[in-house]
Amino acid sequence: MKVFVLSQGGTPLMPTTPRRARLWLKARRAKVVRHEPFTIQLCFETTSHTQSVTLGVDTGSQSVGVAATSNGCVLFQAEVRLRTDISEKLTQRRTYRRARRSRKTRYRAPRWANRRRAEGWLPPSISSKLAATLKAIHFVASLLPVCQVNVEIASFDMQKMRDPEITGISYQQGSLFGYQVREYVLEKWHRTCVYCGKKDTALQIEHLVPKARGGSDSVGNLTLACQPCNQRKGNQTASEFGFPHIQAQALLPLRDAAHVSALKTRLVAQLLQQFGKARVQVRYGYQTKYQRIQILDLPKSHTNDAVAIACEIGEMVRPLETVYGIRCLPRGQYQRFNGLLSSHKCWAPRKVRGFKLYEVVEVQGDVGYIAGRREKGAFIIKDVTSGKNRAEITPRKLVRVARPTQGFLIAQKPILGSIRKEGGAGTPS
Ligand SMILES: [Zn+2]
Repeated sequence: MKVFVLSQGGTPLMPTTPRRARLWLKARRAKVVRHEPFTIQLCFETTSHTQSVTLGVDTGSQSVGVAATSNGCVLFQAEVRLRTDISEKLTQRRTYRRARRSRKTRYRAPRWANRRRAEGWLPPSISSKLAATLKAIHFVASLLPVCQVNVEIASFDMQKMRDPEITGISYQQGSLFGYQVREYVLEKWHRTCVYCGKKDTALQIEHLVPKARGGSDSVGNLTLACQPCNQRKGNQTASEFGFPHIQAQALLPLRDAAHVSALKTRLVAQLLQQFGKARVQVRYGYQTKYQRIQILDLPKSHTNDAVAIACEIGEMVRPLETVYGIRCLPRGQYQRFNGLLSSHKCWAPRKVRGFKLYEVVEVQGDVGYIAGRREKGAFIIKDVTSGKNRAEITPRKLVRVARPTQGFLIAQKPILGSIRKEGGAGTPS
């Protein structure tokens, strides 16, 4: 594990070994600025010579993977858990306001006439996710001299394929191209078995007219089927199997395929604005998948996808043993009044028994964060990565590990925690 280094002026330099950091700290030539991830700042002038660091971002609705690579090494890997409580909290605020309105009935202007949405408005839940993703990118850029940011925007590149049904693009034009066609077919048939409609199962790329009967490998002859359906169909064509409409549908091209979510469009736009056109590169899901499976041979997880996005296609890197788990936190307690008819003002102290909310503590040999405090009684400790209840324990027994920085709760977590089931299509049969 490397130690992150900031220059005297605070700009990020290349990370160093723990040994050198220790010597610097001992000689008082550096100071600690952050414990998690461990970062030091130099107290002497240096040349600001850095190597090129590439940052890969795997966006998602629940969590975001970020990874920074340089010269075949992964320098930083983290999974950022986004907040999912925004819409719930806004509903709560709305009900409070509604109740207050019927309680204090002064004249209010009609609501329908005084609301307008700004250009480029995003729903609060999505705009929170966008802000958190950008914040995570800037967080890594504050630790490492990031030269380039790679973002995945769609699962395949429609421009590169042009009109696959017309040009008759074949499934077997090089291994990377196979991945492209596979993503296209998955998108086109909505990731379901066309014969039984089953979702969330291992799907196979299936030839409508079997290859043994002269069927081609081109996109117009491919569809998705689950293993049992594929086996039952055997050597029949789709029409013979009782699905003539599927065979007709297969010839229609996928029109609005390069669909990019509002979040990704805005993310790329913001990155272009902040990092400049030359430093932002757009990636596609099929490239990520090819790089992760064929070149790096890594299981599916947000952080591994981020590593694959950060690499050049065909570049070999070693992933880190441990990844960081980052949770996005609400900034504070906004409740001002409570009690019947909101008559009692809240005076929640910043510290209860010396502890603040969301501090990382060691409890019973494990690490958790403070999710609830009581003036008299046990504190509620939750797990850093999953957010599940861990213990209710008296504050006397807690040992502080870290305070949250920049609205993030950061902790190291073992790499096995984030592995998920592999999805997608298998080889054709
Ligand atoms: Zn099926």
